[in-house]
This record gives sequence, C-alpha cells and structure tokens, in this order.
Amino acid sequence: TQTGAGTAREREAPARAADRDPGGRTDEELKALAEQAGRDLEEASPLEILRWAADTFGNRFCVTSSMEDAVVAHLASRAMPGVDVVFLDTGYHFPETIGTRDAVAEVMDVNVITLTPRQSVAEQDAEYGPKLHDRDPDLCCALRKVKPLEQGLSSYAAWATGLRRDESPTRANTPVVGWDEKRRKVKVSPIARWTQDDVDAYVAEHGVITNLLLMDGYPSIGCAPCTRRVAEGEDARAGRWAGRNKTECGLHG
Ligand code: SF4
Repeated sequence: TQTGAGTAREREAPARAADRDPGGRTDEELKALAEQAGRDLEEASPLEILRWAADTFGNRFCVTSSMEDAVVAHLASRAMPGVDVVFLDTGYHFPETIGTRDAVAEVMDVNVITLTPRQSVAEQDAEYGPKLHDRDPDLCCALRKVKPLEQGLSSYAAWATGLRRDESPTRANTPVVGWDEKRRKVKVSPIARWTQDDVDAYVAEHGVITNLLLMDGYPSIGCAPCTRRVAEGEDARAGRWAGRNKTECGLHG
C-alpha cells in the first residue's frame, strides 16, 4: 500500500507501527474483549464507546472514513485528539469527496492517512482492461478497496466505522463493538444505533464537515462510476452499484 500525495498532515501508516504499543493480547483475547464490550456498551453513547476504544487500544486504534461526512472522525477526535483517520483513495472518487478529506485534515484535530491501491487506475486498466467497475465490480472493489484497507489496518488492533443499523438490512445487526473475523481486528461502530436524524442533529450541533454531494441528491457516496443520485423516496443506498446486483463493497462483509 502506498500513500497518496495529499496534505502535509498525512503520514504513512507503516511508519507509525513501531511506536505503537503492541498490547500483548492474543487474537482470542481481543475477540473475547470485543464481544464483552459489545454487550457492555450496547446502551452507551457514541462518545463513551469511542473513549473505551481510545483507552483500550491507544495508538493502535483508528477511524476509517469514506468522507461522506466527518461525524465519526469528529466524535473520535473528542475521545482521542489526533486520532488516525484512514481514508481509502480508490482513484475513482468525486472531487467533492477529496475536498471533504482535505477539509477534515485541515480543520480537525485528527491525523488523516490516505491509503491508495497498489495500481493506479491507468495501471489497472492496462492489466484488466478499462472500466473494470462495469464488468467485474467485485474484483475492482477487491483491488481498490478491500486489499488496501487490509494492508492499511495491519498495524492497528481496532478500527471504527460509521456503520448504522438503519442503513440497510445487511447492517441491522451491527454490534457497537464486535470482532471482525476476516481481518482479526476489533471493529467499533459507535453510531450503530443512531438514525439519520441523529446524524443530522449532531452535524448541525457541532458544525461537522460534510460532503457537498449530500446536499445534491447523493445520500450515500462511493466511487463516482458506481454512485448515482437517488430519486425522492428512494432508499438512501439505492444509488450505489445501481443495476449491478451488488450492495456492499466487501469492506464490511
Ligand atoms: Fe471500483 Fe466501483 Fe468498487 Fe470503486 S466502488 S472500487 S470504482 S467497483
């Protein structure tokens, strides 16, 4: 995994691995810890959940953000100022998404880390042919999202996401803290119990940075070739991979 050009505040993830406390816990201990915390913190507020994660994992904890909004990054920066916020730059993002990333790096007390896939879009096109996203979106997501994230998370014991139970049936059982068996990491979803109204209220109360596309008919934002506007009354995620028999990128499966 390489880092993108990005802002001066970005740092290369692997360079920080050496100064992290390895914690000394085995995977089995981490798994038990996560499952217990999931039960104990089910009724806790997002901030309490993130404070637990910060206290438990310190520098081995990060937030991942798609830069749809900076709600979880904002919450995490209150729990742990300077927290690592990991962003995957697939090479296919809308300019507004990159702008959101840059604004977050500029104004928030977080350390934005940009991960990029092994191949540029041009290199991928040369090897697999153009528009792989139209022909085999699962492979495209595997190459441009799943693999780089796996590598980028390797030095962390726990990561936080913005998953919410009300987003889709596949996310209805998301624990606030759980065990990500695929990556063997603790996965923290502090706003799992929030609704869109809760998110909107937090954004309004704290003036949180949001992606401009949210105000332009895109309630869920992914890569440009795989995201379209949704019509009034349509499901928020209906604009993701529309017509391609795909609803998730594989990061959360
Ligand atoms: Fe490729 Fe689309 Fe997946 Fe982005 S969302 S990685 S463009 S298939």
